[in-house]
Amino acid sequence: PGGALLQPIRTTCPYCGVGCGVLATPDGAGGAKVAGDPSHPANFGRLCSKGSALDETLGLDGRLLHPMRRGADGALRRVAWEEALDAVAAGFQRVVDRHGPDAVAFYLSGQLLTEDYYVANKLMKGFIGSANVDTNSRLCMASTVAGHRRAFGADVVPGCYEDLDLADLIVLVGSNAAWCHPILFQRMLRNKETRGAKLVVIDPRRTATAEAADLFLEIAPGGDQALFCGLLAHLSDAGALDSAFIDAYTKGFDDALIGARRISPTIAATAASAKLPEAAVAQFFDLFMRTPRVVTAFSQGVNQSAQGTDKVNAIVNCHLATGRIGKAGASPFSLTGQPNAMGGREVGGLANQLAAHMGFDAQSVDRVRRFWNAPRMATREGHKAVAMFEAIERGEIKALWIIGTNPAVSLPDADRAREALRRLDHLAVSDNVLSNDTINSGVHILLPAQAWGEKDGTVTNSERRVSRQRPFLPAPGETRADWAIVADVGRRMGFSGFDYAGPADVFREHAALSAFENDGERDFDLGGLADISNAAYDALEPTQWPIRRKESRGRARFFAEGAFYTATKRANFVAPEQPALKTELSAARPLRLNTGRIRDQWHTMTRTGASPRLSRHIAEPFVEINPRDAASFGVEDGGFAIVATDWAECVLRAVVTDRQPQGQIFAPIHWSDETASLGRVGALVAPFVDPYSGQPEAKATPAAISPR
Ligand code: SF4
Repeated sequence: PGGALLQPIRTTCPYCGVGCGVLATPDGAGGAKVAGDPSHPANFGRLCSKGSALDETLGLDGRLLHPMRRGADGALRRVAWEEALDAVAAGFQRVVDRHGPDAVAFYLSGQLLTEDYYVANKLMKGFIGSANVDTNSRLCMASTVAGHRRAFGADVVPGCYEDLDLADLIVLVGSNAAWCHPILFQRMLRNKETRGAKLVVIDPRRTATAEAADLFLEIAPGGDQALFCGLLAHLSDAGALDSAFIDAYTKGFDDALIGARRISPTIAATAASAKLPEAAVAQFFDLFMRTPRVVTAFSQGVNQSAQGTDKVNAIVNCHLATGRIGKAGASPFSLTGQPNAMGGREVGGLANQLAAHMGFDAQSVDRVRRFWNAPRMATREGHKAVAMFEAIERGEIKALWIIGTNPAVSLPDADRAREALRRLDHLAVSDNVLSNDTINSGVHILLPAQAWGEKDGTVTNSERRVSRQRPFLPAPGETRADWAIVADVGRRMGFSGFDYAGPADVFREHAALSAFENDGERDFDLGGLADISNAAYDALEPTQWPIRRKESRGRARFFAEGAFYTATKRANFVAPEQPALKTELSAARPLRLNTGRIRDQWHTMTRTGASPRLSRHIAEPFVEINPRDAASFGVEDGGFAIVATDWAECVLRAVVTDRQPQGQIFAPIHWSDETASLGRVGALVAPFVDPYSGQPEAKATPAAISPR
């Protein structure tokens, strides 16, 4: 009290998928000092600009502190929890009774804790009886999930962060890690400085990451698949394959090679497809071929594509063909965007997964049914994010619960998504804030959730490491944990199996399900933690999975000696399809719009927007354009420009820069109607998705630009 510092609490950063450990020392007056946790193996005490500014984001300005319900007069009013929960449960039950379970849906978030995700997924897939549970992670790394499942038979990240310290060549594809995964990028730079590792950056934009590269390949949008097909063909031509690994542990190599040769038979053909200098392609291929320890790390430039799954597999093919997988310093490696995108994958928070990395095969459905004692199991996949909002628009989904995300800003074709929300008979939103674009799109019931610093549970980072998010502030007002709110609604709908005393109870059940009838034949396994005591859960150290029964330690790497999770135990090479962007340019839409993040903001800025320090970096929405394009379209540096696509228009500050290649423009995703009128870039993005992953192509929308 009175501002005296209390003991530091070890917790985890709520932003990106690096999952840095944070020491938060409450000041007793609602704030806290924040520092990196020196003992956390993700960051060893370091924090990036966003993590360092967490202390500026802890206030209660704009917080939703009480349940609210829309009355007959259209106004939202404060109500008691009992009334709000009864109304949510009755609304869902009414729609299920009249229209069946597939008329309801949950839309979740990679910001949720694993415990929150688990309970929501259980309620929908085991008890309501639909698989209409999807998440904003669909916009983030769904193509990686699909690519992993096709290649490995399971969604397993084969490597770990230490590989970035041990690699002699780091290839970054579609990743501005300097801004989006800064602490991992610092590890890469340290490896470069201390061990002489080489850094190759493959990206259409000359980002801060590209500035640090030994070799920067300024690739054409969509060209990465052709590049990695060319690499596979070159590795074969040069006799650089690991034939022993291919023969012993894989299948489908010959077909994949034929497919790759069809797309990129030579260095010259690769260079032409990817619009790269031939010498640069040759240099990259030679570096990859000569360096046994290669990590190819990829992020949204690969995932957010209408051929994202094929791109993931084109990368994985090259690592399988050279046996560079699961070895120290040698692996393909997915950089996940969100703090708990991985945890969401683990509990089955995606509409095409069941739980604990299981799918909708009859054996898995039956196993989960018996484990949950579930009265009404979903037996087939539900709607993925974009399809879910299309089903809402068509009136097929009539009740939706959005938890911890802002789809009216972040979905592609976001105006249409926002309008779809207004068609719902029943829209419940759980969030921390009183107002955002989604809440302002006709919400019927608003449920106040605990925020970072108040929440208690676990998250999993990009290297499969489960870390604790621990509370260090009292929960303000009437805010509650998301898992507890969902469990209460489940009980009100008449279901048993939702009586959890705390997050440790939920975690134990999640861990036990992962180990249920699992003798090591399934990848995801937390069986060693299924009987964890409350005290041990509270003290849980950051730990990589799998942790099988009778084990207390996880495992850093997979697959160096085969043992994949396919039926044959062999990895699948995947023959790629011909690369193609979903949309064509035209005279009316002559530019490609690329979207992404900036260094110091996160998602729709509900937290980072509260920090004056972070706003000093870039304070307003903008569009980057090459000087030649700016001249041809009459756009001036510092002036306002109208960016138009077939889906919407935005007005953005023009930044004329040769970092941006000719023919392409770039705009960040963070601003919304709440924070910058006309700066809601999600509305511009085409809603076309990858056929395997359902992930939208967020980086290549045809656009026009003109001065305002
Ligand atoms: Fe947080 Fe990511 Fe920065 Fe680490 S790198 S401090 S997890 S935002």
